[in-house]
Amino acid sequence: MSKSTIAAVILAAGGSSRFGAPKQLLPWQGRPLIAHVADMAWMAGLSPVVVVVGAEAEQVTPALAGREVCVLRNYRWQEGMSTSLSLGVAALPATVEAAIFLPVDQPLVDARFLRSLAMYWREHNAGIVVPVGREERRGTPVLFARRFFPELAQLTGDIGGRALFAQYADELVTMPVADPDILTDVDTPAAYEALLARQATSLDWGALKGVICDMDGVLWRGETPLPGLRDFFALLESRHIGYVLATNNASKTPEQYVEKLARMGVTTTTEHVLNSATAAADYLATQAAPGTPVYAIGSAGVREALRSHGFTITDGAPADYVFVGWDRDLTWQKLATATLLIRGGAGFIATNPDRTFPMENGLVPGNGAQVAALITATDVTPVMAGKPGPLLYERALARMGTSPEATLVIGDRLDTDILGGLRLGMPTALVLSGITQADELPASPIHPDVVFDDLAALVRAWAMVS
Ligand SMILES: [Mg+2]
Repeated sequence: MSKSTIAAVILAAGGSSRFGAPKQLLPWQGRPLIAHVADMAWMAGLSPVVVVVGAEAEQVTPALAGREVCVLRNYRWQEGMSTSLSLGVAALPATVEAAIFLPVDQPLVDARFLRSLAMYWREHNAGIVVPVGREERRGTPVLFARRFFPELAQLTGDIGGRALFAQYADELVTMPVADPDILTDVDTPAAYEALLARQATSLDWGALKGVICDMDGVLWRGETPLPGLRDFFALLESRHIGYVLATNNASKTPEQYVEKLARMGVTTTTEHVLNSATAAADYLATQAAPGTPVYAIGSAGVREALRSHGFTITDGAPADYVFVGWDRDLTWQKLATATLLIRGGAGFIATNPDRTFPMENGLVPGNGAQVAALITATDVTPVMAGKPGPLLYERALARMGTSPEATLVIGDRLDTDILGGLRLGMPTALVLSGITQADELPASPIHPDVVFDDLAALVRAWAMVS
């Protein structure tokens, strides 16, 4: 079953005679500008991300290699912006409810801003959302609901979507922008230089009220604590910062993590630990009453989480839900039982999507691989609790009572820890003490706010402010 989405159409077809080289390729945070903008749209969860190229297309297109985008070539770009709009609109599938049209030359428009535009649209139930900056000036990017797509496709010349503003004034809402500099575009080389100077903003440490921290590769590797571990907890305590230690690994119970930290000289309690099994069981508790029969695949962490909500764990039928976590004793019989139940209408919930699990001798199938077998056998996609999905982090935020903007995500994986945080509008810090290597960053579409060698370096940076 396909879900409705908000799409991005990146307008990158224009020529840039003032720059001597394609504006689309100006360096921004170690990437070509066009790749940066595509990454922001993708990180904001916009789907699909359509990029319309035209001028210098042969040079510009390779900059998008490795990105999950649909590239369209506009051979009529010199006839104006409207030709790109009609091409982009025509490429949007029927599941798209609305689209955000982004010029390629607004580098400060980030994933957070795009998410706020999308949320503003949902809250106000409008047809068109336009951000307003200084002196009430209407800016871009602009969001249009699907019902305007046919008219956008009919426009001519270089005026673009604003041609519809006057005609549909009562369906248009304006979104005030707190920091109007965000809307600045790179019109001239001087403007580009000014924006380069301005981008050196990093994290607002003083505004933080909570932390969601990954464990493996951040706090420890195996049984070895990583540098900065004790100082980190001491700093959180002295600044009265709430914290939740959140992991996709559902095989251990919160008690086991508390014991592990105690062995490393850190005292904490189970309320500070959240694994994907707990998050999935918490979610299930919002859907089903205690006593509901649940067929569980998984180890102690999974069973403990289900029991804590009073669910009845069954060996097969009858069961209203199939609940799947990583299971090192997985058998064909278990997969067959789960398949029959899901095909018979049982709900399908999985703890985490991790495809592999690192062992001493290499990578072995993780829960994502088990879940993939069940998806293939049933054609049903489960509710997935772990990162980068929102459930785990939403549970953590609810526990601390902090807002996403005031809660820092710390993790060692870009595609789970960091992406999950960015998608919820949270500030993010990557540490290089685990999975991610520094040389992977320039090519990745996922851009953390700050990067540190390890937790010790993060603690030093934080201790220097406020
Ligand atoms: Mg990790």
